[in-house]
Amino acid sequence: MHKYPRSITGAFTSTEYFSDVNLRSALFKAKATAASTKDAHADADADADAVKLEVYPAPGLERISFTAALSGTYTPTDIGARFGPSWKTFWVRVTCTVPDSPVWAGQEVWFVWDAECEGLVWTQDGTPIKGLTGGTWVDRRAEYVLTKNAKAGEKFTFYIELACNGMFGVGRAGMINPVDPDRFFNLAQAEIAVPNKDAWALYRDFEIVLGMAKELPADSDRGAKALVVANDIVNTFRHDDLSTIAPCRALASRFLSAHNGDATHRVTAIGHCHIDTAWLWPYAETKRKVARSWAAQVELMEQYPNFMFTASQMQQWEWLKDLYPTLWPRVMRYVKEGRFVPIGGTWVEMDCNVPSGESFVRQFLYGQRFMRKEFDGMQSEVFWLPDTFGYSAQLPQIVKHMGGKYFFTQKLSWNNINKFPHTTFWWAALDGTKVLTHFCPADTYCSQADVKDVTFSVKNNKDLATTSESLLLFGNGDGGGGPNAAMVERLERMADVAGLPKVEFGSPNEFYARLEESSRNLTVWKGELYFELHRGTYTTHASTKRNNRKCEYLLRDVEYFGSLASALGQTKVHDWSYPKETLDRLWKMVLLNQFHDVLPGSSITEVYKDTEGMYKEIREIGTKLFDESVLQFFDVLGTPANESAGATSISVHNTTCWPRSELVEVPLSPLAASVKDKMVQKSADGKTGLVFVPDIPSFGHRTVRLSELPPIPMRATAKKSPDGSYYLENDHLHVSVNAQGRITALIHKRTGRNAVPSGALGNVFRIYEDVPLFWDAWDVEVYHLEKSWEATTGEVTIAEEGPVRAVLAVRYPITPTSVLTQKIVLSAQSQIVEFDTEVDWHENRKFLKVEFTFDVMSDVATYETAFGSLQRPSHFNTSWDMAKFEVCGHKFGDLSEFGFGCAILNDCKYGYATRGNTMTLSLIRSPKAPDDTCDMGHHKLRYAVYPHKGSFSESDVVKMGYQYNVPVIARGTAESPELSRSFFEIDSPNVVLDTIKLSEDDQGSIILRLYDGYGGHSRVTLKTTLPLVEIHRVNGLEDEEQGVAFRSEGGVTSFVVDIRTFEIVSLKLKLSPNDDWERVDSKREASE
Ligand SMILES: [Zn+2]
Repeated sequence: MHKYPRSITGAFTSTEYFSDVNLRSALFKAKATAASTKDAHADADADADAVKLEVYPAPGLERISFTAALSGTYTPTDIGARFGPSWKTFWVRVTCTVPDSPVWAGQEVWFVWDAECEGLVWTQDGTPIKGLTGGTWVDRRAEYVLTKNAKAGEKFTFYIELACNGMFGVGRAGMINPVDPDRFFNLAQAEIAVPNKDAWALYRDFEIVLGMAKELPADSDRGAKALVVANDIVNTFRHDDLSTIAPCRALASRFLSAHNGDATHRVTAIGHCHIDTAWLWPYAETKRKVARSWAAQVELMEQYPNFMFTASQMQQWEWLKDLYPTLWPRVMRYVKEGRFVPIGGTWVEMDCNVPSGESFVRQFLYGQRFMRKEFDGMQSEVFWLPDTFGYSAQLPQIVKHMGGKYFFTQKLSWNNINKFPHTTFWWAALDGTKVLTHFCPADTYCSQADVKDVTFSVKNNKDLATTSESLLLFGNGDGGGGPNAAMVERLERMADVAGLPKVEFGSPNEFYARLEESSRNLTVWKGELYFELHRGTYTTHASTKRNNRKCEYLLRDVEYFGSLASALGQTKVHDWSYPKETLDRLWKMVLLNQFHDVLPGSSITEVYKDTEGMYKEIREIGTKLFDESVLQFFDVLGTPANESAGATSISVHNTTCWPRSELVEVPLSPLAASVKDKMVQKSADGKTGLVFVPDIPSFGHRTVRLSELPPIPMRATAKKSPDGSYYLENDHLHVSVNAQGRITALIHKRTGRNAVPSGALGNVFRIYEDVPLFWDAWDVEVYHLEKSWEATTGEVTIAEEGPVRAVLAVRYPITPTSVLTQKIVLSAQSQIVEFDTEVDWHENRKFLKVEFTFDVMSDVATYETAFGSLQRPSHFNTSWDMAKFEVCGHKFGDLSEFGFGCAILNDCKYGYATRGNTMTLSLIRSPKAPDDTCDMGHHKLRYAVYPHKGSFSESDVVKMGYQYNVPVIARGTAESPELSRSFFEIDSPNVVLDTIKLSEDDQGSIILRLYDGYGGHSRVTLKTTLPLVEIHRVNGLEDEEQGVAFRSEGGVTSFVVDIRTFEIVSLKLKLSPNDDWERVDSKREASE
C-alpha cells in the first residue's frame, strides 16, 4: 500500500533547496552574462561580451525624461554594482549580443535583470516597453523577451530607467516604516538566457496539480488523485535526462484534461494592478509606476491573446497620456480591443469617509468625463474601489447619479471584529437606491492566480445559494506590478478542470452583467459599509483633513459667484471669463489628495510635502478667483462693486441656502475714518471691529452703511463669579466655566434645560495611549478606551467682556510637552458656544480627544455624512455595535432625545464617538509610521456645542453645522443705498441647496445640487431672482433627464421639485443673459 504525504512533492520546484537537481535545474538551456562574471550556469561557448552595461546617474534625485537621459554620459558597470541612495535614478544602456553557438540559434532569448529595485525598459527610440522588479518576492519581474528567434551575433540595445526604490518604497527596516534615505541596491543579475519552454510548461502544469493536491479535500476523489499524479511526475522526471519532461507532461495533461460538469461555479479572472496613487512613495514615483506596470501588461497582451486587464483611477490614465506619449497608443490599441479595460469612473480611488458629497460627485464627474472623452464615449458602470477604509452611506445613490450601477471591493474582509456576511448583495443608500455589489471572495485584489485563490473563491463565497459567479482579481499590487506570465498560464490551465471551478478571463462589466442576470433573491445591505479597522484615519494627519475641508468650501464659493457672473454676462463684453481651466486644475488637486492613503493620513512624510504645496496653491489661487468672481458678478448686475479703500459700507455675502443674522468681524484698515468709531466692539488689538448684520438673505448679500448701523438687539457678557468660576451669557445660553476651563453647566434658556448634567463636565481634554496592533497611522484599537487620563487643567482669563462678543481665554499645558490654548466664545446673537483652539503638539502614540457629557438619553447618536446623516449606536450591546467605537462624522455629531438635544459642530475634524451620554470629538493623534513627523507641531481647529430644542430631525443642526463651516464674507464697499438681494431661496427646512456651479457643457447654464439632509420627503419650492429660460433635472454627469416647469412673476422665478427621503437632486438652469431684465430688477431692488 502506498502512502502519499501531502508535503512529499514540495522539493520538486523549490527555489531554496535542491534547485540543482529538481525541475528548476531544467528551466534554461543556456545563459550568458557580462565578461567579468561568468558563473557556473554560463554556457561554455558564450561570447564574452554577451551583456554590456553602461550607466548614467541622473542629477541629484531628479526623475529625468528619456530624451534628457539620452544625452547623459555613460560609463561601464557590471554585476555587483551598487545603486543609490534612495529615490535616485540611474539610466543603464544595455547591449546584448547573441552568442555564436548552436544552442542559441533559432531560440527564444530572454534578458534577465535583477537590481533589487524597480526598472523600466525603454527601446532606443524612446518607447517604454516593460517594467522590471528585482528581488525574490512574488512581485519579481525579471525577464524581458528579446527575440523569439535568435540569430548568432545578433545585437539588442535598449535602456533601463532604474529607480532606487522597491515596490513598497524604501522603508527603514520594515514596510510601513518612515523612509530610509540611504538605501542602496545591488545589481545581482544581468544576463541573457534561452528558456527550456517544455520545462517551463511542466513547471506550470505541476503547480496546478500540486495546488489541487493541497487545496482540495484529501478525502475528495480529485484531491486524492492529484497527489498521486504529482508524485508520479516527480518519479518520472530525471534532471540528467530531459527527454523525461514529455512523459511528465503527459501525466499532467491526462489529469488536467478531465472536465467539469455544466453546473460548476464560474470564476471570472481579470488582471489588475492596484497602484496606490501615493503611499510609501511620492506622486512623482507613481507616474513611473503606472508606466512600468502598464507597459508590462501590454507585453502580456501581445503574448496571451485571451488575457484581460483592468485599470482604474483616471488620474493615472491622464498621467500616462501626458507623460508617456509613446506608450499611450500601445495601451489604446488594447483598450479598443476591449482587453485593456478602463474601470471605476473616479478620478482616483478616494477615501470614502472624509470627502464631502460634492467631492464624491466630482470624483466621478472628472473620472467619467475623462473616460467619455478619451475612450470613445465609454463610461464605467462599475464603481471600483478594492482598497479604501469604509464606504459612505450615500455612495450607492451617488454611483447611480453618476452613471454607474455596480460596486466592487474586498476591503471589508479585513474587518478585525465581525466577519462581513455577504459576497454578492444589493447595497442600498440612505434613500434606498441600490447598486449590485460583489466582494471578490478570494479576499484579495492581488491574487497570485493559483489553485488556492481559485478554490477559495468558491469556499469563501457566502452567497452560493443565490449565485454561481465569483470575480478574481489577479496581479501584484499596491506598489503596482500587476499580472505576470506565470499567473496567466496558471489560469489558462485551470479553465475547465474537474474538481476546480471554471475559470475564464473576462471584463468586470461582463461579470456584473452576468451576475445581475443570474442571481436570485440577493440580500440588501442598507447604509454605510463600516470598515472595522483603520479607524484612526478619520483623525490622522490633521492638516490634510483641514485643508481638504477648507478647499472644498472655498472652491464651492468661487463656483457660486463665478458661474452666476459667467451665465449672466455671456452677451456682455468683458475681459473676464469663467476660470474653468484653473478651477478644473484646482479641483483635480483636491481630488488627487483624497486618494485613500493621502487624505486618511497613511502616507510617508514626502507625500505630505507635496500635498501641503498643492493645498497652498489651491487656497491662494482660489481666494484670488473668489475675489475676482465677486467683483465680476456685481459688475454684471450693475450694482456697486466692492472697494477696498475709504469704504463707508460693507457688503456681506451669504453663500448658504438659509437667511442668517451674523456678528461680522471687519478689518478696520480699509474703512473710512468716519465709520471706524461706529463699531460697538473692537478686537483687543484694535485691528477689527464687530458689526451685527441682520437678515442676510440666502444665497445673497446685504450692504449696510456703517454710519447707520442698526441697533444690536442682544448682548453677550463674560463675568467672573465670586467662587473663582466664570460664566458667559447671552439671550440664548448661560455657560458656566470652572477655573480649569471645564464647562460645568450649559443652560439652554428657551427650554430651561441644562445640557450638562449636574456633577458632570463638558470640554474635558482626555489623552489616550494609542498603540495599535500594527498599522500605526491607520489604527486605533478598542482597547485604547481602557487607558486614558484627563489632561492637566487650564487657567482661565476674560479676553473680551462684550457687549456683543464675550470671550474666555484658557491655557492648558495638557502634557509636559504639549500646550493647548483656547478661546471660549459666545456672541450676542449666537445659539452656539464656540471653542477656537490651537495646540502645540509633541507626543508619541498619544490621542487627544475632547469630551462632553450631555444630559440626554438615546440609544443612537446622529452624524453627518456626505449628502446626508445617519445614526450609530451609543452602546456596546453587540459586537457590531462595539466595533463602531470610533466613527466618522462630517460637520456635526448630535445626541438627541425627545424634545432636546446637543450637537458638537466642527470646522475640520472627522472622528467622533458616543458612549452612553458622553460624546467625544477626536482631535489629534501621533503615530510614527509611515510618517514619523505626523501631526507634530501647531494645530488650529474649531468646534462648537449647540444645545437645541427638539430631536435631531426637528432641529436645525444641519444648517448650524453648515453655517459654522461657511462664514459670511464681508467686503468694504463705497457708500450705497442699503441693498439686499437673494439669488436663491428654498422653502423646505430639511433640504440643503449645496452646490451652484457652471454647467460643464454650456456656459449659459448653471447646475444646482440639492439633498435632503434629515430623511423626509419634501415638495420644495425654489425661488430665484435670476432670469431663467429653461430648467431640467439632470444626472450628476449633467445629462438632461426631464424638464421642470417654472413660473416668473415680478422678477422672481419659482419652481417646484419633489425630493424623496435623502435624495440627491441635480438641476440645470439655463439663464437668460437679457440686459433689460436686469435693469428692471435692479430698479425694483433699489426702490424697496
Ligand atoms: Zn491602496
